Amino acid sequence: MTKRLYYDSSEIHEFDSVVENTVTPSPGQSRPAVILRETAFYPASGGQVHDTGWLTVVGGNSGGNRAPERLRVSEVADTEDGGIVHYLEAPAPPLVGTAVHGSIDPERRRDHMQQHTGQHVLSAAFIELYQMPTVSFHMGTSEAYCSIDLATPTVTSEQIVAAEKRANHIVFENRPVRIRYVSRAEAEKLGLRKLPPAERDELRLIEIADFDLSACGGTHVSASGQIGSIILRKTEKARQGTRVEFVCGNRAVRVARRDFSALSEAAALFSTQLWDVPEQVRRSFDDSKLLRKQREDALDQLAELMALAALRDPPGTKAGKIVARVFSDRDISFAKLFAQKVTRAATPAIALVASTMDPPGLIFAQTPGGSADMGALLKQVLAPVGGRGGGSRDFAQGGVPAGSNINLERLLREAAATIGT
Ligand SMILES: [Zn+2]
Repeated sequence: MTKRLYYDSSEIHEFDSVVENTVTPSPGQSRPAVILRETAFYPASGGQVHDTGWLTVVGGNSGGNRAPERLRVSEVADTEDGGIVHYLEAPAPPLVGTAVHGSIDPERRRDHMQQHTGQHVLSAAFIELYQMPTVSFHMGTSEAYCSIDLATPTVTSEQIVAAEKRANHIVFENRPVRIRYVSRAEAEKLGLRKLPPAERDELRLIEIADFDLSACGGTHVSASGQIGSIILRKTEKARQGTRVEFVCGNRAVRVARRDFSALSEAAALFSTQLWDVPEQVRRSFDDSKLLRKQREDALDQLAELMALAALRDPPGTKAGKIVARVFSDRDISFAKLFAQKVTRAATPAIALVASTMDPPGLIFAQTPGGSADMGALLKQVLAPVGGRGGGSRDFAQGGVPAGSNINLERLLREAAATIGT
C-alpha cells in the first residue's frame, strides 16, 4: 500500500520517495507508470479529480552535465490493493529503487481543495436548511462546473439562493477545517453527515468547526475562508434527485469574469446596461417575430400578383393553362408558394416551377382534381438527369444534385410539351 501524504496535509506539494513498482507500456496501457513508497499525489476518487505534476529522478545523472530527468505525471489512479499509480509521459518508467522527488502542480491542487471543501460546506448547508442529503459529488476539470446530486425531486430558486448565502456565511467566518482519525464505533456515535460503507476500521474525518463532520479521503483547505466563495449555478433533474451546479474560489472568479464579459458584449450590442439585456433580447425577439410575419405576408402577396400576371398570357391546353417559370433569385419555398397561387386561381392551371438557388429544386402542381399526373410527370423528367422526387397527382416536388449543370428551363419545357400533347 502506498503511504498517502495528503491524508495528513493538503499543503504537502513537494516530497521525496522511492520507486517501489513499475508498469511498462503495453498494448493495453500505452503510458509507463510507477508506484511509489509514499506520495502526495491525489488519485482520482470520491468525485475529486487527480493531481498532476512532476517526478524528478534524484541523482540519476550525477556523473554528467545533463539536467536531472523530469518526468511529467499526467494521471494518478488508485489500484485495487491500496496502491497509487502515477502515469508518466515518458518512454519508460525509472527503475525500481530509484529515488525520486515529487512536485505537485500547486494551482490545480489549490483549485481541487477549494471545490472539494466548498462541496462539504454546501452539502451541509442543504442539510441544515432543508434536510436535503447529498447523494453524489462530481468535480469537473478546471474549466467546468462541479455538481452535487441532492436526494429531492425539486429545489426552488429561493432555496438555491438561501443555501448559497448560508454556505458563503460559513466561508466568511473562516472556520477551521480539521482532519481527525476515529474508529468506526466512535464515528457512529458522532453523527456524521455521511458515513462510508463498512469496510475500514479507521475513518478519516473532515470537520468544519461546529458546522460539518463527514468521513472523506480527499484534499481540503485548512480554514473555510480559503474556499474564497461559493456560487451556485443551474439545477436540473438527475437520476437520483436534483443536480445543483456550483463553483468555488478562483473558479468562481473565472466563471463570473467570463459571464461578465459575455453579458457586457451583449449589452454593448444593444447599447444598454447589463441588467437591461434580458428586456432588450425579449424586445428583439418580438421585433424579429413581427418582421418575419410581415415578410411572409409580403411574399404571399408578391406570389399572388406574380401568379395572376403569369396566368394572363399562356395558352390553354386541354389540361388547363400551363405556367412554367424558373426562379434564379427566389428559393424553393417561394417557388412552392407561387405554384400554389397559380393552381388555386379560378382557372384550371398547371404550374411547372423551379428554383436554381441552392439547393436547386422543382415543383409540379395542378389545380386539384386536374387531368394530368404531376408525380409521374416529375419522375419522368428527372429520371434521365439523375434527379429525385415524387408526389401525388396534384402536387410533386423534387431536386437535382447541387452543383450539377442541369438546365432546369429545358426540363420544364419538356414537361410542358408532354402535357400539351
Ligand atoms: Zn472531502
